[in-house]
Amino acid sequence: MQAAGVSGFRQPVLISWFTVAMHHRVTRDFDIYPRIVRARSAATVAIRPLFDHCRWNADHLYEVTIFPAENAVGQVHWGNAPPILCAPTDGVLRIAYHFDSEQEYIVRVRASGDEPRQALEFRLYALEADLFARRPYKGDTHLHSCRSDGRESPAYVAAACRRIGLDFMAITDHRLYAPSLEAARAFSGLALDLRIYPGEEVHPPDNRVHIVNFGGRFSISELFETPEYRAGVAAIEARLTDFPAGVDRYPYASCVWCFDQIRQAGGLGIFCHPYWFYEHRYDLPQTLCTLLFERQPYDALELIGGYQWYESESNSLQVARYCEERAHGRRIPIVGASDAHGCDTGELFGWFYTIVFAPTPELPDLIAGIKELYSVAVEARPGEVVRVYGPFRLVKYAHFLIREVLPLHDELCFEEGRVMLAYLAGEEGAAETLRSMAGRTARLYEHLWQR
Ligand SMILES: [Zn+2]
Ligand SMILES: [Zn+2]
Repeated sequence: MQAAGVSGFRQPVLISWFTVAMHHRVTRDFDIYPRIVRARSAATVAIRPLFDHCRWNADHLYEVTIFPAENAVGQVHWGNAPPILCAPTDGVLRIAYHFDSEQEYIVRVRASGDEPRQALEFRLYALEADLFARRPYKGDTHLHSCRSDGRESPAYVAAACRRIGLDFMAITDHRLYAPSLEAARAFSGLALDLRIYPGEEVHPPDNRVHIVNFGGRFSISELFETPEYRAGVAAIEARLTDFPAGVDRYPYASCVWCFDQIRQAGGLGIFCHPYWFYEHRYDLPQTLCTLLFERQPYDALELIGGYQWYESESNSLQVARYCEERAHGRRIPIVGASDAHGCDTGELFGWFYTIVFAPTPELPDLIAGIKELYSVAVEARPGEVVRVYGPFRLVKYAHFLIREVLPLHDELCFEEGRVMLAYLAGEEGAAETLRSMAGRTARLYEHLWQR
């Protein structure tokens, strides 16, 4: 679209400058801790210069102003927060403050009398106890390897996932469970912080619904050959009452059976890409899609799925549907997934992922976190602004994390992922290097969260 004004002259686009600024707020000159604090309590935040060029002047007093982004108790007008005067001790500036409520806080530090542009600015987030006790774990619940129609080996995909900052993942090849185990086995005996979980993409016979079995202890695909499958589905069909006209009973009953089996396997049953448009129609009959939304036999919805650029409409429809169903009072656990069929093709891989807020990255905690609505789906396509979808409270917090905290986490992951790839390529010493890196992301979180 052409900007108004002189033809051929590009108007400066202020919004994109603003967006860039917002996405480069990680302060690399200082170690600032904690960054995540408890709401309705006091915390002391330390600002420790890391380099020679940013040391505090020991004789100076610094003015620290803290702006609660939403509101402060008793504060009616903006812009009148009184500065706190601080002097560095042992080269570290420490600020004691009472964080009234759950929200983002903007902290501005400047030497008394300095121009505002010389200020250091960074952000903190205060959380209520439920969210404070959880840590953010990034993951992808839907990925393919060359064992089905993807490009690279399962182990390569796992290492590449760490390289882009993920804490957990599963290979979910079409109708195949073994590749997910192969990915984990390739690194067995090593000290790894990436959690590699079992999984598969399930395609029940004569049923167009795609289902991901994330984390289940056994394969669902392998059960389709057994007589239990048809018998189990027939029993479910017989129990279906109040069934709407215009929907086939079998595919719906087949979905119910699959999701039940996944739960029995201790996995998370994910309803995949409901608005995938394939050839001349939605791949899934929309009467069946509606029934799945209404009766919710699944554990989680793939809210943001791995669609190509030209398929973006499908994600838009999924978000619209989710919002509408939520407005009807339905609880809908969600994930975001790349459905990537290659890590180095420049397509899908890393574009979409999930952040789960859970006490640990262990599978039962992640699954419980998703089911209890403590997850968001993230869209982070290259060159685009990051968009987060899910419950409002979590979306707001996730934006803070993506701007301020996760870049530090992702850098550590990148280094580990690179060494994991070197290990697969047979590089000498890679296993030892991985051992020396173990536990770094957990220690970063320990450091950044208030004690
Ligand atoms: Zn699929
Ligand atoms: Zn897939």
